Amino acid sequence: MVRDDGNGFVRCACGKRHWGLHGAAGLLLTDPARGVLLQKRAWWTHYGRTWALPGGAVQAGETPWQAAIREAGEEAAVPSAAARATSESIVDHGTWRYTTVLATTRHAVTERAVSMESAELRWVPPAEVAELRLHPDFALAWPELSGQLDRELVLVVDAANVVGSRPDGWWRDRAGAAVKLRDRLAALGEAGVRDDAVGVLAGPQWSWWPRIVLVVEGQARGVAAVPGVQVVAAERDGDSEIVRVVAKARADRAGDHVLVVTADRELRARVSAEGAGVLGPRALPIR
Ligand SMILES: [Zn+2]
Repeated sequence: MVRDDGNGFVRCACGKRHWGLHGAAGLLLTDPARGVLLQKRAWWTHYGRTWALPGGAVQAGETPWQAAIREAGEEAAVPSAAARATSESIVDHGTWRYTTVLATTRHAVTERAVSMESAELRWVPPAEVAELRLHPDFALAWPELSGQLDRELVLVVDAANVVGSRPDGWWRDRAGAAVKLRDRLAALGEAGVRDDAVGVLAGPQWSWWPRIVLVVEGQARGVAAVPGVQVVAAERDGDSEIVRVVAKARADRAGDHVLVVTADRELRARVSAEGAGVLGPRALPIR
């Protein structure tokens, strides 16, 4: 019988013992102004006095994100509403897995060491992290993790083109088809998307919770936004609106991975020139 709270050691196929009967998760929280939030482990813990991420065992029925933000609340008093999860990276041993959830602060967080397991909490500039005495597993993962700090996947979706590529009667009801597309995108945004499905190329073990911008035109212009999907109505020309959205996204946050979803060749060339990647409508993992 596996305990619901997940607390306990797993004897792993790799030959080591790991904490977390359902796996474990940690929160890599970035505050763009202060750095990343690290926790110095209490002297009596496994690898005591080393620096690592707030985190712990995943409970039965929890996603790694839910576990990571719960543990960050229990150990560092980080409120769940204070962070937006952007991506996750999984180390999978088959019999056990560790998920690092990358998140960015929505507003300043006042951290407090509220757990016996925390000796100290500190915001550390990314360039100084490797100078600390790190937990060996975190030290190993840090170089790859640090490449994706505070980086979002932004999907800019060409509604007219994507709807037109699907044989479900769009020509009868363009607005209705755009609403259907919007709702599928919202579900995708909530579930997350695997890195290899969209080709960000962070690595096969990565997934993203994308920020989604749906650009609509013509009869679909009245489509409203929903949580997770911003809707931009083009005044006249949808392609120029998409190029404008891409240029703004690139100017606002240069590190983000901006992908335009369209099959339109001319538009592909225009957004590539703005530094965006492109994705065919059929590559989008939506049902
Ligand atoms: Zn293992």
